[in-house]
Amino acid sequence: MRYSQIFLPTLKETPAEAEVISHRLMLRAGFMRKLTSGVYSYLPYGLAAIRRVEQIVREEMNRAGAQELLMPMVQPADLWKETGRYEKYGPELLRFKDRHDRESCLGPTHEEVITDIIRRELHSYRDLPVNLYQIQTKFRDEIRPRFGLMRGREFIMKDAYSFDVSDEQAETSYMKMYEAYKRIFSRCGLTFRAVQADSGAIGGNFSHEFMVLAKTGEDTIVVCTACEYAANMEKAEVKTAGPGSTEEMAALKKTETPGKRKVDAVCEFLGIEAARLVKTMVYMADGNPVAVLVRGDREVEEVKLKNLLKVADVDLADDKQAFDATGVPTGYLGPVGSAIRLVADQEVMLMRNFVTGANEKNHHLLNVNPGRDFQAEAVADLRKITTDDACPVCGGRLELTEGIEVGHIFKLGTSYSEKMQAVFQDKDGLEKPFVMGCYGIGVSRVVAAAIEQNHDENGIIFPVPLAPYKAVILNLDPKDEKITEAAESLYAELSLAGMDVLLDDRDERPGAKFKDADLLGMPFRITVGKKFASGGIVELRNRKTGESTEMLLDQLKVELLAKIADATVN
Ligand code: ATP
Ligand code: MG
Repeated sequence: MRYSQIFLPTLKETPAEAEVISHRLMLRAGFMRKLTSGVYSYLPYGLAAIRRVEQIVREEMNRAGAQELLMPMVQPADLWKETGRYEKYGPELLRFKDRHDRESCLGPTHEEVITDIIRRELHSYRDLPVNLYQIQTKFRDEIRPRFGLMRGREFIMKDAYSFDVSDEQAETSYMKMYEAYKRIFSRCGLTFRAVQADSGAIGGNFSHEFMVLAKTGEDTIVVCTACEYAANMEKAEVKTAGPGSTEEMAALKKTETPGKRKVDAVCEFLGIEAARLVKTMVYMADGNPVAVLVRGDREVEEVKLKNLLKVADVDLADDKQAFDATGVPTGYLGPVGSAIRLVADQEVMLMRNFVTGANEKNHHLLNVNPGRDFQAEAVADLRKITTDDACPVCGGRLELTEGIEVGHIFKLGTSYSEKMQAVFQDKDGLEKPFVMGCYGIGVSRVVAAAIEQNHDENGIIFPVPLAPYKAVILNLDPKDEKITEAAESLYAELSLAGMDVLLDDRDERPGAKFKDADLLGMPFRITVGKKFASGGIVELRNRKTGESTEMLLDQLKVELLAKIADATVN
């Protein structure tokens, strides 16, 4: 493609609306333009990058035995009523009526539609397994659309659905997708982790989120530096804190701690480490108070608490709520003689002779011991994991990093097929519900995530497999015949060799061309300028490493083709 002909409106200024780097760069590099909140038109350059992702997704889905279909965006409400999701899905589901007053919605996902197809068409175990996928526009009326393509209201998703005869078979289908996803994101040239996610009622290890590691990720994840373990922060399991203290239990003793309410202040006053103190935190669990015990230097992980208590919501109580529930002013609460329910982090139960509040203003207790001095209603892993903790799988060192969720695979079981009476006849002639799985990839989000992970202050640094053009040829002087002829012949030859290249043949200053080349992020830049006119030399520069080499034109062709082949992961 010739730059003089391409529709590629770049911006010099950073648009004010863009908060994250990928959004800024995508607007500046003419990827897309906003139509309305969370809804974008994809312009040719951005669409080309999206198509690259789609191509890889398609190839790997097909390789894994899935088949492509395309389902409608408009869906009848009746289908959604069958699964109860019409009521449950909430305002993200855009609902409307057609001219016949029929309730409809725009598909945010397609479990209902695909299950309807399968229940009509497949009736025998002989037809299974089957895995069908589509690459399609989804609409979710997100409450806070932001970060450009990262969280749009309209976006492109690959969604796949598998149907199997049994749990076991469904797990095989799941593992195939797990492997396919690993190949997809590797082939995209991204650094990512498959993170265990909550598989809810299904249980087992059958929900993974695929996270691209990048600073602006919305999720914090814990990754092991030694093995493949990775988990969402709130799900990351803390290994039990070891064998426990063997100290002799000393006599319980009350001591005055006037005005010392905070952990630091109490520890300083008593001359102890925070690890010798246990905090008593009051939470409101669906409105009911419960006290949570954690070591003084630890933090409560609210998701773990919520799961333990099986409630919808937990909130740290404010001073008044805590006082109303316990009758004790904040800072002096403790487990001994607690007026409210008590749950404890597992680590607390292994400690001996620690300090807690005395449930009395200006007083703390010394030498508190679990079992002897108080009982907890439940003991569980309730604290936030830290980088001082060991990997729960291999004991290796952990690191915290931010991640962007680009894919999610999930074993659904029979929840949809049962509600929608989607059944098949098994070998023995018995009717059984299909066992399902669903597998999503945020195709448009992948492009944004790739840029979050690969950029510098000058612009995008495309991973080779996602680059709309593998190389840009800069003709630095279109008025010079010799230079122009060389640039043109190079362009023609590389194109003939099947390489997507952009020829910057614009009548622009060299500085502007260099700037745009950096902004657009094509992996290789070839400069044909004065040095070619004088000595036949051109320059090849690697956008990622910044490394540049000068060589003769013929040598460059060979070199570049080899580099591209090398950098494309297959
Ligand atoms: P999130 O927690 O980010 O809202 P989700 O759990 O709603 O994601 P799924 O329903 O599993 O996502 O959708 C599959 C994939 O679609 C996600 O992994 C993500 O990459 C992408 N996706 C979801 N919502 C959006 C959105 N609003 N904009 C762009 N991509 C999205
Ligand atoms: Mg969502």
